[in-house]
Amino acid sequence: MSLQDELILEQIQIGPMENFTYVLGCQRTKEVVIVDPAWDIKSLTTILNERDYKLTAALATHYHPDHCGGTYGQNNVEGVAELMAENPVKVYANKLEADGLKKVTGISDSDIAKVESGDTLKVGDIEIDFLHTPGHTPGSQCFRIKQTLVSGDTLFINGCGRVDLPGSDVDDMYHSVQKLAALPDDTLLLPGHNYSDVPHATMGETKKQNVYMRIPDLNSWRMMLQS
Ligand SMILES: [Zn+2]
Repeated sequence: MSLQDELILEQIQIGPMENFTYVLGCQRTKEVVIVDPAWDIKSLTTILNERDYKLTAALATHYHPDHCGGTYGQNNVEGVAELMAENPVKVYANKLEADGLKKVTGISDSDIAKVESGDTLKVGDIEIDFLHTPGHTPGSQCFRIKQTLVSGDTLFINGCGRVDLPGSDVDDMYHSVQKLAALPDDTLLLPGHNYSDVPHATMGETKKQNVYMRIPDLNSWRMMLQS
């Protein structure tokens, strides 16, 4: 994808749960960050090496193992820990997500750059804004780069993330979806899973087809999500 000239933007579907990993960065300097590296770290680092990208950071939308690796039940998913063994970069996570991230992946405090809403990260000439969007997990976050939004499991093209998991919060999710709905219609939505018939859509298109973005108030939202 070459959506915006100075921006490196690659959407990579990976793993058995239709996850998307993203590579974002600066065309001029070839510096990049990787969002939600999981499942097959070797194939991801091969892509970085083939393109001569210089990895400067890993960004975590949230701590679930299908996005950042780690153990759940009997399963072990590759993720940030395996990436850091090869490329020692920091993992940028919302401060409320750091404990979950450590527990699931086994990385330590010094491996994590704790961020909060409004923080930014420079990658070459590109600036990434961190948006705290709790609901799916307490420290879920989205990343905004120019007219692009990487939304993790907060917002999908046809839905939103689950709110029936430990740490989920129905009301928080309402406010987070509203916050994203307020972004300009030409914002390109890049979700955390390939759950729709298209891999990405503009916010304007998403608002038209996503019923969760059209629920008028919190009471209706509670009734719909808790039924
Ligand atoms: Zn999740």
